[in-house]
Amino acid sequence: MMLRFIALEKTMSRQAQEVITPSTKISDYFGANVFNRESMKQFMSEEAYDSVVEAMEKGTRLDRKIADQVASSMKAWAMSKGATHYTHWFQPLTGRTAEKHDAFYTPTADGRSFETFGGDQLVQQEPDASSFPNGGIRNTFEARGYTAWDPTSPAFLIGATLCIPTIFVSYTGEALDNKAPLLKALSAVDKAATEVCQYFDKDVTKVTSTLGWEQEYFLVDAALHAARPDLIQTGRSLFGQASSKGQQLDDHYFGNIPDRVTAFMRDFEKEALLLGIPVTTRHNEVAPNQYELAPVFEECNLAVDHNQLLMDILEKTAHKHDFRVLLHEKPFAGINGSGKHNNWSLGTNSSKNRNLLAPGKTPKTNLRFLTFFVNTIKAVHNHADLLRASIASAANDHRLGANEAPPAILSIFIGSKLTQVLEDIEKRVTGKALSPDEKTELKLNIGKIPEILLDNTDRNRTSPFAFTGNKFEFRAVGSSANCAAPMIALNAAMAQQLAVFKKDVDGLIKGGKKKDDAILEVLRRYITESRDILFEGNGYGDEWVKEAEKRGLSNVKTTPHALDFYLEEKVLDLFESLDIMSKREQEARYEINQENYKLKIQIESRVMADMAMNHILPAAIKYQSTVVENVRGLKEIYGADFKTYGAEQLSIVEELSKRIQTVKSKVDEMTEERKKANALEDAADQAKAYCENVVPYFELLRYEVDKLEALVDNNDWPLPKYREMLFTK
Ligand code: ADP
Ligand code: MG
Repeated sequence: MMLRFIALEKTMSRQAQEVITPSTKISDYFGANVFNRESMKQFMSEEAYDSVVEAMEKGTRLDRKIADQVASSMKAWAMSKGATHYTHWFQPLTGRTAEKHDAFYTPTADGRSFETFGGDQLVQQEPDASSFPNGGIRNTFEARGYTAWDPTSPAFLIGATLCIPTIFVSYTGEALDNKAPLLKALSAVDKAATEVCQYFDKDVTKVTSTLGWEQEYFLVDAALHAARPDLIQTGRSLFGQASSKGQQLDDHYFGNIPDRVTAFMRDFEKEALLLGIPVTTRHNEVAPNQYELAPVFEECNLAVDHNQLLMDILEKTAHKHDFRVLLHEKPFAGINGSGKHNNWSLGTNSSKNRNLLAPGKTPKTNLRFLTFFVNTIKAVHNHADLLRASIASAANDHRLGANEAPPAILSIFIGSKLTQVLEDIEKRVTGKALSPDEKTELKLNIGKIPEILLDNTDRNRTSPFAFTGNKFEFRAVGSSANCAAPMIALNAAMAQQLAVFKKDVDGLIKGGKKKDDAILEVLRRYITESRDILFEGNGYGDEWVKEAEKRGLSNVKTTPHALDFYLEEKVLDLFESLDIMSKREQEARYEINQENYKLKIQIESRVMADMAMNHILPAAIKYQSTVVENVRGLKEIYGADFKTYGAEQLSIVEELSKRIQTVKSKVDEMTEERKKANALEDAADQAKAYCENVVPYFELLRYEVDKLEALVDNNDWPLPKYREMLFTK
């Protein structure tokens, strides 16, 4: 029997399964597999504990003796929970995580063993990591990259392995990962924001960037997934006719979660909670079989790690439940794709009013709110192109610019009420000292902000970057992305902007202006300068594309071209001046991203060709032979009257011939284009050739194959269909 039908049978027999375990209280096990402050206190001397906390909070170095103590307590904790191995856990530029496990002990010849986990092993490791992408920074013959402990993200246990979050750098100190530049960007924004906070509150000594991500994903039954070479190898369906029922009834969104899915969710949530990932929200998304989960927001670095971990947990747990999770941005054509909204804000370490993007109750806290609010707008205006580059990937190209997702044009939505507030400031703040009347009026207006925000109901779902009451939401991030890239971009842009703001305000104060007047005057200028990035209308409309062009906003729809923004002087300077990445590191990263794009498209193109030639055409030809047989019989029976009885059958044969030939010739042409692209020297040139000359065949081929799917006998079709993959419960 055909694979597809075997797969379908398996799926049917699974639908009745329900494995809900009785649940204990979450607080009983939350963070149980994390070496958090509580377990550190329990396993460490006071001296070691204090040093680690200082390292976590202030970024100070641990001395070797303390590192030894920390290592042995970490090991004791892990072994008390059954751990046998440890690994440095890091995020190379492949986009996912990497680990290499080592045992805590090495056995000796005489049957004893010695300890192999001390301070040295905790702080630094040298994995032979020559096959991770390095953009030419690390010669393969050198093959040395270092991982170094990041004490700001706690170690955790997965199974019997202690995982230690680390950065990954080359022998010469260049970053080969996402975490190293992220930590530097976070420290830059901390410094700049803390200084600006001094205008409002002298007690602030630290500002933390906060991130709350929302993860969308699809679930597909494991057996059906196994029968789709495209899902297995590329994470998305390269072919497939839309099912008659898609998402048009909106009956899936927030609907009842099927039992088998609920069991899966409970299971991964438990894993996540054990690892201290504060997941709270789960619901159905718009498309059939699409779901979303979100945790409470956390400090940005930790939130990034948690999202990386969560993606792994989702995949592992799905296996246990005979599902496969699809994290791809566009697994199915014709229905919504998946994103990962990045909710972002800045928070202080003072005792109250911590959130810098939440207006408070007094005019002073509202001025502080306005300061950070307007500076974010200015930062995004300055570096919109960088932000666009930071979310670019082959998979996200399907989303940006398509109809359900934010467009490739970066703009900011703030809502009509805040637009009004900004307009007021623009009108009333003139550069001259404010008259008492003007001051009162402005204060009254600013004072109204909290009420305004309560009423912030006019949310705009089509904006890629929206203010949502007490945070900005970067919505254009793709579902499979590592949040680090957009978070590096946003926090760096903000750090630079806040430093400029401080200089501007201090300049005016030196010139004799009062502090509040100086702040308002600078903000007024920023509002005027950033006006072009603010857009309240429909981001999906054609009018916006025209309007954005008039405003000079970029609209770059494909990854290899968006990545070029990374090499603009303005961006190179941003990262270099803040000591986040050198030019060399940035150029290496650029090359890696271009190479990644090319490889993704190359794989898709090969899989497409294989499927067309090995699966689709044989099925179409076989079916055609059957129809030909039928036509021949009809001719024999009806002779001269054949047309009356067999014209339509003959037209099926003809249509099949036409489509079969087109598929074959397009596959050949596409292969030729791949060869030409491969012959180019430079990674960026290759990526662009793939983008411009190979990708267009995807749609052409898909069109023909989907028409064949509609024509060929259902019993002969070799691939699970959309209606089968998307509606199994
Ligand atoms: P939705 O976008 O689905 O309407 P919400 O607007 O409720 O959802 O946003 C939910 C996300 O915003 C959550 O993940 C939450 O943790 C996050 N969030 C809330 N406050 C902050 C903040 N100060 N900083 C970062 N993220 C935040
Ligand atoms: Mg959201």
